[in-house]
Amino acid sequence: MSKRDYYEVLEVGRGAAEGELKSAYKRLAVRYHPDKNPGNAEAEEKFKEVAEAYAVLSNAEQRARYDRFGHAGVSSGAGAGFGGGAQGFGNIEDIFDLFGIGDMFGGRASGGGRRTAAQRGSDLRYDLEITLEEAAGGMTAQLRIPRLEGCDDCKGTGAKPGTQAENCTTCGGQGQVRYQQGFFSVGRACAACRGTGRVIKSPCDGCRGAGRVEREKQIEVKIPAGVETGSRLRIAGEGEGGALGGPAGDLYVVIHVKAHDLFERQGSNLYAAVPVTFAQAALGAEISVPTLAEAQPLKIPAGTQTGTVFRVKGRGMPILGGRGHGDLFVSVSLRTPKTLTREQRRLLEELSKIEDHDLEDKGLMDKVRDIFG
Ligand SMILES: [Zn+2]
Ligand SMILES: [Zn+2]
Repeated sequence: MSKRDYYEVLEVGRGAAEGELKSAYKRLAVRYHPDKNPGNAEAEEKFKEVAEAYAVLSNAEQRARYDRFGHAGVSSGAGAGFGGGAQGFGNIEDIFDLFGIGDMFGGRASGGGRRTAAQRGSDLRYDLEITLEEAAGGMTAQLRIPRLEGCDDCKGTGAKPGTQAENCTTCGGQGQVRYQQGFFSVGRACAACRGTGRVIKSPCDGCRGAGRVEREKQIEVKIPAGVETGSRLRIAGEGEGGALGGPAGDLYVVIHVKAHDLFERQGSNLYAAVPVTFAQAALGAEISVPTLAEAQPLKIPAGTQTGTVFRVKGRGMPILGGRGHGDLFVSVSLRTPKTLTREQRRLLEELSKIEDHDLEDKGLMDKVRDIFG
């Protein structure tokens, strides 16, 4: 199933300003809200699509990535395999962070006071820290996620098995009570049923009437090669369970890539500094440069200046979505020895004598040109 363009989903142009996005989102979210379309699976899909499009386009960084890379730039595609493997993964430090992305999406009654029964569960956010190597190779992460799930005992209704929620007598099942204030009649969510219009006389023992229970679930998530800090993977349906039989929210895994000892990363390119000796730089040499896999030989020409940058093609990070690799840029820097053997000292002193003669023959400006030329 191919994903629709986010701008198309929100029915706006590619240059749409923030305010325009927001009002488009509001308009569409209200149109497709589950409360307004009970039991309509198509509307629910549209609602999710709109929410996802807005989540990406309303974030400047995500939007820029989406503009450049399309869907591949902002998500692994829905449903990045999840199953129930059980092996532990060592070097992932993960910080779980219950975060209200969901406030933006679901759960809210769309005006009108009366909340119909089913409510979509909140989306969850999980911050996952990985190494640069893991980002380069892709990986499977085991996440442990405490979340609310629909109660099995009562199938999410909150009522003791065999019983049912009944219409609230305080509001007559309307979820709203009206009272007179001056000339106006004002509606307010019914306190007795918390606006649902239904009350549970005998609550379910498993969930104490909430319809949902907190449970820790282990989820296996495939992290695609090439992700970077800020990459967000959506795992559809793995957020919190919906209330009273509503659909589950989604899980968003937000990637944080740890700093690396050797490499700096910019997009799909890597940068590294490699020390060379004066003799190697002056005479030319084949040096060994680190890559994310094994070290690789690199020829530097005679007369290489410190700070010269060499490009090693295709040895950068993989590009998200499997379209090749970036490059590795190696900056060589001249390393001055801190200690010398007697032989080295003798040779350098000899060299120094010749160098001095060489430079004394020239004027000061020539020397400066020599250095910066
Ligand atoms: Zn229950
Ligand atoms: Zn009521």
